[in-house]
Amino acid sequence: MSLDENELPRTEDEWRIRLTPEEFRVLREAGTERPWTGEYVDTKTPGVYHCRACGAELFRSDDKFDSHCGWPSFDDAIPGAVKEIPDHTLGMARVEIRCARCDSHLGHVFEGEGFTPKDTRHCVNSLSIRLEPKQV
Ligand SMILES: [Zn+2]
Repeated sequence: MSLDENELPRTEDEWRIRLTPEEFRVLREAGTERPWTGEYVDTKTPGVYHCRACGAELFRSDDKFDSHCGWPSFDDAIPGAVKEIPDHTLGMARVEIRCARCDSHLGHVFEGEGFTPKDTRHCVNSLSIRLEPKQV
């Protein structure tokens, strides 16, 4: 069974084939990687972060900032790339962010913390994204 890279899986079983078990748990089951363990927590490399599930462009390195929360944080997303969904799990009122193209879980978005002038923190799992470094 082969999957065309440009074609989105239609079932969770097809996603399971394409992703590693860790990626599947985060992207398709809304898991959260442990803080400070992700490969992009401190990354400053210029480039564009893509959805690890479908390859859509999600975040730019220009919008990444040091939040010291243990996960990659961005104060903005590429317009239209992520969708926000109210999340009341764990007894907290949070807003989940998902890839607008393939509906995979990315993390949560928080406002009003005062980290940057945009006052928004997209808190993203490294396992949900993949950096494509800028060509120089
Ligand atoms: Zn996606």
